[in-house]
Amino acid sequence: MTAGGRCPDDTGRTMVRHGRGSPAWRCLLALVLLSLVAPVLADEARRTPAFLVGGAPTEAGTPMRACPPGALDRLEEVEIPAPAEGWPGTPQAVNVFNVFAGEVMVGLGDRVVCGRMHDARTRDSRFRAGVGLVVVPPAGSHDPVRVAWMPPVKSHWIPTIRIGGPSPVQQEDTLRLVMRTACLAIALALAFSALMGFIGARDRTFLTHVAMCLTVLLWQATLNGLSGYPVPWLPVGDREAWWQVAFTAFGFAALLYGLWSQSGVDRWPRLRRAARYNVRGFIAAGVLVPLLPYSALRPAWWLVDHVFLVSVVGLTCVAVLSLRRGNRRAFATIAAGVPVLALLAPPMVGGRFGVEYRVELIQAVLTWFLIVMAYTLTNRYGQLRAQRDAMRQLADTDALTGLPNRRAGLARLEQCFVDARRTGTALSLGFVDVDLFKRINDTHGHAVGDQVLVAVADALVSDVRSHADVVRMGGEEFLVLLPGVDAARAHARLELMRRRIADTASALGVAGLQISASIGLAALRTDDEDAVALLRRADDAMYRAKQAGRDRVTRDDAAHAATAAEGFAG
Ligand code: GH3
Ligand code: MG
Ligand code: MG
Repeated sequence: MTAGGRCPDDTGRTMVRHGRGSPAWRCLLALVLLSLVAPVLADEARRTPAFLVGGAPTEAGTPMRACPPGALDRLEEVEIPAPAEGWPGTPQAVNVFNVFAGEVMVGLGDRVVCGRMHDARTRDSRFRAGVGLVVVPPAGSHDPVRVAWMPPVKSHWIPTIRIGGPSPVQQEDTLRLVMRTACLAIALALAFSALMGFIGARDRTFLTHVAMCLTVLLWQATLNGLSGYPVPWLPVGDREAWWQVAFTAFGFAALLYGLWSQSGVDRWPRLRRAARYNVRGFIAAGVLVPLLPYSALRPAWWLVDHVFLVSVVGLTCVAVLSLRRGNRRAFATIAAGVPVLALLAPPMVGGRFGVEYRVELIQAVLTWFLIVMAYTLTNRYGQLRAQRDAMRQLADTDALTGLPNRRAGLARLEQCFVDARRTGTALSLGFVDVDLFKRINDTHGHAVGDQVLVAVADALVSDVRSHADVVRMGGEEFLVLLPGVDAARAHARLELMRRRIADTASALGVAGLQISASIGLAALRTDDEDAVALLRRADDAMYRAKQAGRDRVTRDDAAHAATAAEGFAG
């Protein structure tokens, strides 16, 4: 259906407007303006120096910093002994990963530096995913490497230390940085596309997805330390541990919301209410966390984790039940929910890799969750569009003949009228009324009457370029729109249609059935104020055809037969 869209010329030509607002005119105007501005721009370019300098020179003392007074007292310290034969005298890199909050100290001999994951400025610029240091221990010395960190809030988050030649250590650091940044970028991209979806569809589900993606993004940034990279962009400060617990609670709320919404929980009203409280409970927990003392963070986190574990297990059961009842959407809950359990698994589940790459694994699971949710959103959007298109189609289509109905037809006529006026082209309109149709119904029955209507519709459609140009106005009345066709050619076309209608009777194979139609033709005139005027004249012409004995094409008032095209030409 193209009702309401641009009205194409029925002769197949595209109507191109050659007025001052046409694309050609606009291009010409743009070229003239460009030619005026270009010399000025070229002159400006000539004045620009051959190189540009950006940023500030490196400050002495950065990026490493000394440990703050008293910090070392609170740190857990390990010593990594030198090789048995002593240090080889070549540079050694030490990089500490998976310390989520607080100071990290790295030292060898007199050289002792500190850094925090959430303050990129204090760290050695060679290491971004961990806190690292490069030292050159004297050849043969046996000083141990000392590394210390704040005791982690989660006891099974085990710090990982990489030590060795600077190049491989830095490469691993870069790999981790890329993985962490990629996950943030995906969350941001999905948030952006959901926002675009909201702008397009005005469906609030899209906004919920935006909130979900942003929550997961902030959660990841507080876990992986990228809240401070390249400059601090989240006010984490010294309160990384609080941020992590709070965002874990908010993140769990987002995950549970997404998982519940696909699980098919709506079938069980009580469970649905419980799911709602479940999500709200996590949001409330996240809001309360900043008020807790540091010592309460560990039990709070334990509680949040365990309630989440129970919730995910519960909703997985709901999803499986719902899936068995035929709700295919619940599969998304299982696909996204089962990996989510890995967030809580003891570190040794993934073996050594699971410990070393804990942050990256958590981010991968969260990114997978967001991707599954984006998929469900795309599906939902597709369904909404399909439903909307189907409803629009139903609202605009005549059920018997499949032609545009009166509503859609009048909208299309209006569009064709506007286009013809704008482009100065012709527009003709045929008003078709089947003759003595009541008698056909009475003699052969309504079923045959319906067949006749379908046959007439087919006969009319076979001679126009687009289905949208034949309209069932109601009963046994049809409109034929002929954009771009002047009165003389329209007359010939409608005459052909009239003969085709008469021929359809034999194809239907009903004994004694005769079909004919009276057709009124009106062509657009310069004095037509609107499409209704044209329609009225076509209708009048059709009545005159009836009065003159039916089964004929009659033009509107011959005295005003000058078509619009002729009018414009004159
Ligand atoms: P005229 O030549 O003067 O147009 O006479 P007519 O009998 O065609 O006109 P009239 O308006 O008296 O009759 C139209 C009939 O069309 C009346 C109505 O029962 C019938 N009709 C309207 N819609 C349908 C339909 O969808 N199917 C069938 N079978 N008949 C319909
Ligand atoms: Mg009628
Ligand atoms: Mg009739």
